[in-house]
Amino acid sequence: MENFPEDSLQFSCEEIGETLMKQQGMTFKFKKVNGRYIHTFIAGKLLTKIGLTPRIVIGRELRDFISAELAIYKETFYRDAWEGNEDIIYEGELNGVYYMASLQPIRQFGKVIEVIASCVDITERKRSEEELRATKELLESVIKNSVDSVCITDIEGKVIRVNDAFEKIYGWSEKELVGKKLPNIPENLYDSLVEICKPVLTGTKAISFETMRKRKDGELIHVFLTLSPIKDARNAVVALTGIARDITERKKSEEFFRKADKLNVVGQLAAGLAHEIRNPLASLRGFLQLFLSGHEGKSEYFDIMISEIDRINSIVSELLIISKPHATSFQENNIGIILRSVVTLLEAQATLNNIQFHVEIKDNFPLVESSEIEIKQVFVNILKNAIEAMPNGGIIRIKAIVQTDNLLIRFIDEGSGINESIITRLGEPFFTTKDNGTGLGLMMCYKIINEHKGRMHINSVINKGTTIDVILPTPG
Ligand code: ADP
Ligand code: MG
Repeated sequence: MENFPEDSLQFSCEEIGETLMKQQGMTFKFKKVNGRYIHTFIAGKLLTKIGLTPRIVIGRELRDFISAELAIYKETFYRDAWEGNEDIIYEGELNGVYYMASLQPIRQFGKVIEVIASCVDITERKRSEEELRATKELLESVIKNSVDSVCITDIEGKVIRVNDAFEKIYGWSEKELVGKKLPNIPENLYDSLVEICKPVLTGTKAISFETMRKRKDGELIHVFLTLSPIKDARNAVVALTGIARDITERKKSEEFFRKADKLNVVGQLAAGLAHEIRNPLASLRGFLQLFLSGHEGKSEYFDIMISEIDRINSIVSELLIISKPHATSFQENNIGIILRSVVTLLEAQATLNNIQFHVEIKDNFPLVESSEIEIKQVFVNILKNAIEAMPNGGIIRIKAIVQTDNLLIRFIDEGSGINESIITRLGEPFFTTKDNGTGLGLMMCYKIINEHKGRMHINSVINKGTTIDVILPTPG
């Protein structure tokens, strides 16, 4: 080892002292004297931060300047180090500052003569750890207390965890599911789900849709499901969350509205139709009386009678079709023909109200995958509203136009029009401005057209009239 001149050694000692003073952290030393751990040195900026000075610390033991309880705790580490254990580490806190201390025994001739400690400020780290913990706790409580079921799976679809609502809605406990594939997906939906999951798995987006799920007892329920990716720090998708809301009740009330609307439509139609049926019946009765009183039946009388009977028949069967309960079944239909039959059905009601229909329907209609009864229900509702908006009579124009990739069916009335403030509320269930209205008609129209992947637009000018467009996509 090289020999340094005395004064240069002196200089370097001073220099070390200064460096220790200026360090961000803190260095201290202690030794055991008469069974007490007495501090012999302390320096560093952390010292001021924690509110101590060398005067308070040097020559004293821990319990002289911190609480006895804390002192006893820290002395266990002091003892460990004094007994010769290397790398003793503990965390301390004083006046809101957190620090980590690492203790190293210093030996002379194999015997520990003092212990040196270096401390670093970990307040920032503690704070972000605390923030992380608080965020985690918040997230945890949101998941736990959510009324929506939450399920987290790995990218192969194996369950990592589910929340209480999941257990309650579906009937499986978390224990039964962890590590297994989800058992609540109906078999016939499995393939389409795999398709739907693709963009979620590549992490591009979260998606929401209505679908069916199976409960443990086998019952199917309607759910509104949101699937979203969970990514790691490197932006790779590591898991999927599925949040599902049980919308079975909502679906049931929708079904109820649908029926209520239909009964209402049928009921109101019946009034107009009764009139329409009474006229041909009266003429039939007249002919029969003629025959009874001995008049010979002329062939033209029979022709009239047959056409009157046909008319009654067609009206009654339309009414039957609309009022019959049915499961929605989609078939290829000619919307032009459906529209014509609705016009025929409502002509009686229109005439009663001094209203004429001007109909313009082209013949070359492409077939559209649709539910005949429901499309009829839509047209009846729209025309009924138009008639009701024209108490003083007038003309209702009905146009059906084939466009590039859709059908446009336009209804133009000359009625009261709709106030701008009201237009946004149309389609809300029970929203009506009529004394005997139900406010279900337009809601059903929106719902049905939506199920046909179409759109509806309403334009209205007060006291001029309303135009309603129904747009249905055509197979392209
Ligand atoms: P309801 O006919 O039972 O009132 P709807 O859902 O069919 O229920 O219509 C809701 C409301 O929309 C009506 O009360 C009316 O104020 C308005 N409305 C719908 N169509 C028209 C129309 N063609 N002209 C004027 N107002 C209309
Ligand atoms: Mg209506």
